[in-house]
Amino acid sequence: MHQGGCQCRAVRYQFNGEPLTCYTCHCTDCQTSTGSAFTLSMIVNSSDIEIIKGNCAINTFEHNGTEVQRNHCETCGSALWFMATEMPDYTALKPGTFDDTAWFKPVAHLWLRSAQPWVLLDETTKKYQKQPKMSALMTLWTEKNHA
Ligand SMILES: [Zn+2]
Ligand SMILES: [Zn+2]
Repeated sequence: MHQGGCQCRAVRYQFNGEPLTCYTCHCTDCQTSTGSAFTLSMIVNSSDIEIIKGNCAINTFEHNGTEVQRNHCETCGSALWFMATEMPDYTALKPGTFDDTAWFKPVAHLWLRSAQPWVLLDETTKKYQKQPKMSALMTLWTEKNHA
């Protein structure tokens, strides 16, 4: 069981389950939406996230033909998790919002063809130039964490 929240601590959550996978994404959309070099995502069952303080505000927008919901703190704007409207059972949690970030490690790096050339990647993590199947990322997670 792990807790986390936004930067200003108005929104706090508890994660009651096991991750399904965790990866970084270096696509240009992730670079634009965060203003950073890549994003870190943890795919979880939506029912395993419990808000214990405050409320998430939600932005809804179209992305590659899919309606996406961005859940964030209304006060400080920190993104906490994303969800595709048509797949509400799965959530892409932003695991940098956990209080303790030492217990997980991404199993793959995605969209390396648009990665910044100065980003250094560890040797042991799977690398993809584009988008792999989500099932492959889930298998990688299981192999690394439940072997
Ligand atoms: Zn906040
Ligand atoms: Zn991306």
